[in-house]
Amino acid sequence: MTDIMSATPVSTSPVMAPAPAAAPVSGFAAFGLPKSMMRSLDAMGFTAPTPIQTQAIPMALAGDDIMGTAQTGTGKTGAFGIPLVAHLINNPDACALVLTPTRELAQQVLKQLRDMTGHNGMIRAAFLIGGDSMQKQIQQLRNEPRLIVGTPGRINDHLKRHTLDLSPTTFLVLDEADRMLDMGFGVQLASIAAELPKERQTLMFSATMPDNIIKLARSYLNNPKRVEVGSTIAAAPKIKQEVVRVDEAAKYDQLVEILQKREGSIIVFVKTKYGADRLATKLSRQKHNADAIHGDLRQNQRDRVIKAFRAQESRILVATDVAARGLDVPHIETVINYDLPQCPEDYIHRIGRTGRNGAEGTAICLLTNTDRAKWNAINRLMNPGEKTANDDGDDRQGRGQPRGGKRRSGPPPRRSGGGRNHRGQRPSGNRYAA
Ligand code: AMP
Repeated sequence: MTDIMSATPVSTSPVMAPAPAAAPVSGFAAFGLPKSMMRSLDAMGFTAPTPIQTQAIPMALAGDDIMGTAQTGTGKTGAFGIPLVAHLINNPDACALVLTPTRELAQQVLKQLRDMTGHNGMIRAAFLIGGDSMQKQIQQLRNEPRLIVGTPGRINDHLKRHTLDLSPTTFLVLDEADRMLDMGFGVQLASIAAELPKERQTLMFSATMPDNIIKLARSYLNNPKRVEVGSTIAAAPKIKQEVVRVDEAAKYDQLVEILQKREGSIIVFVKTKYGADRLATKLSRQKHNADAIHGDLRQNQRDRVIKAFRAQESRILVATDVAARGLDVPHIETVINYDLPQCPEDYIHRIGRTGRNGAEGTAICLLTNTDRAKWNAINRLMNPGEKTANDDGDDRQGRGQPRGGKRRSGPPPRRSGGGRNHRGQRPSGNRYAA
């Protein structure tokens, strides 16, 4: 198969907010989507495709496998979701599986896919995430869903219990594949892959393209087309980035000062789950309206915290990287990096929580002396090829402006045809059934 790194990209464009529709005729009309989907997209306010959607949708509709590099905030859910839903509507025997690293992302993906199908009940779904009732999920699987959205751990649990049969899968999506590997889902992904039919269409999206992702892509994808948009920073020019240099001991007071000065919803990133709890508790005691979100919360607690934040009942969300991954709350005005992220790529994900869909936002970094190496690594990622000796954000005015960078890419020849028809092969029809 074509080497996905050596090939040239189909096209490269900076990430940007969806282009405004120039005419009443939707830009999606050119894709020849089912009529019911056009109505749904209209109702969702999707008037024109985003750059990643413009690249990916025609190829996916033509049946190609896709390796996409794009972050949350670029419209990547639509880039795989629109062809997925069209595939299910156009092929009554087709079944689709979407794997995401976190429960929140799975929830958001399922919501978008449901919105696209128009909630007409034609396409039943099962939602298989950890921390949720197994019994409820088994019940959903008994209803012969044609769409499964979930996290690798729980999907694997179902496979082990023989409550899930993945053999009817015709369309597979791996969303945020790099994060799935970072979270240690590699083994689970391999056992899920072993249960999937070889003949299928696969779309894989990742924010970064390290070696392990290229390896994963080689094992999952068949002659993939390569689509790419740059970093969220390039895409969201309305995100103002500020750097505040501070001594470790003065960090908390500095944070409080920022919280008092700024209005609107704020997300504060910290390093550890314990740190998230501790900071949220301390802020709450001082009458700041803050909640913590991290991987140790039970599902119902996480749901409650996100719901309150979404409804603007709580103003400050203190979060770890994993917990906030994929969080799509349009009204987040400020992202505060209280601790710098462990890996530079997470910085892009963090600041992409604000400036959603063309809105304005600010990302503030509290930098201490011990952050120098990490901050330089972030700047190297954002400004590839530029010198980093002087890029530790120390501009005395308290402002640093890492800029977005380009990524390598590659593309390949295409394979024709959509998913295969499984009709009659299984006693329960072509559905995921327990
Ligand atoms: P995503 O990158 O998939 O998380 O999408 C980011 C945000 O953009 C979500 O709130 C989507 O609902 C929204 N969005 C995605 N595609 C479009 C589009 N074509 N037009 C308008 N909004 C969009």
